[in-house]
Amino acid sequence: MVNIKIIMIYKHLFGPVPSRRLGISLGVDLVPFKVCTLDCIYCEVGKTTIKTLERKEYVIYDEIISELNHYFADNPQLDYITFSGAGEPTLNSRIGDVIKNIKEKYSNYKLCLITNGTLFYDEQVRKEVLDVDLILPSLDAVSDIIFRKINRPNKNLSVDKIVEGLVLLRKEFSKQIWLEIFFVEGLNDTDEEVNLLVEKVKLINPDRVQLNTLDRPGTERWVQPLCEEKLKRIANKFSPFPVDILTRKQTNVYKNKIPEDVEEIILSTIKRRPCTAEDISQMLGMKIMEVNKYLAIFEEQNIIEKQNEKNGVFYKIK
Ligand code: SF4
Repeated sequence: MVNIKIIMIYKHLFGPVPSRRLGISLGVDLVPFKVCTLDCIYCEVGKTTIKTLERKEYVIYDEIISELNHYFADNPQLDYITFSGAGEPTLNSRIGDVIKNIKEKYSNYKLCLITNGTLFYDEQVRKEVLDVDLILPSLDAVSDIIFRKINRPNKNLSVDKIVEGLVLLRKEFSKQIWLEIFFVEGLNDTDEEVNLLVEKVKLINPDRVQLNTLDRPGTERWVQPLCEEKLKRIANKFSPFPVDILTRKQTNVYKNKIPEDVEEIILSTIKRRPCTAEDISQMLGMKIMEVNKYLAIFEEQNIIEKQNEKNGVFYKIK
């Protein structure tokens, strides 16, 4: 008998991708490109097109669950299922139902929420995410002017409101919170801003602080990363909190078994973040020459484009 495997093209799942913080992680997109409360100058996904605080079912619950059921039929090996992707996941008003469904059906998988942390002032949002295993919120600035320059928020957001929400989240959420701060040269790296951040971090009291800087092309070409020296100096100021400086790390997710839907995996990964050929080669365990062949075809078909950066040649969806 011929064994026919039906390959489903996922609209709301992506990866699994190697994540710097989470190992091998399956991404779940709860909002379409590009619905967010912020429009960060360093965003890898691209410019925010709907900048809103309105929560609704941006991606239909049934569609997400049906994709998850299909994906988990094979009991895949993963370190995490992660809500992240094309915008702010807590804007989806059914996030609580999706979390409940995953926890009921796939309780052996850990669940992580990557969020910009802007909506935790809302008691309902905090309540809906209590069952995830790990929350990675971010906070890049404390002074209003820097916050507006880096994160370009919805006009009804303020840093005070965001910090208040994160403090309440910490009180109600007993599992791990790792707070990420993204540094941009010349904006939030001054002593004054860093000292303000340290003060707020003490109030929020996360389990870890994670320092990040530009590693791939962001929305605005003029954004510059901080050098490692400077990041290390800043890291010392957050003592006694455990601090990680995030560096790019790739894992061979597929253990050298090239997946059948390799084209789809390459494109869905590039769609969420610009990648180099080396990133894809390491992720898939595929020779760089092979990866380059796929990339050349996608370029010829006008689906992707190249961008030359100091730290490599990155491919982005057009
Ligand atoms: S970096 Fe995150 S929070 Fe900022 S605009 Fe992009 S998706 Fe939104």
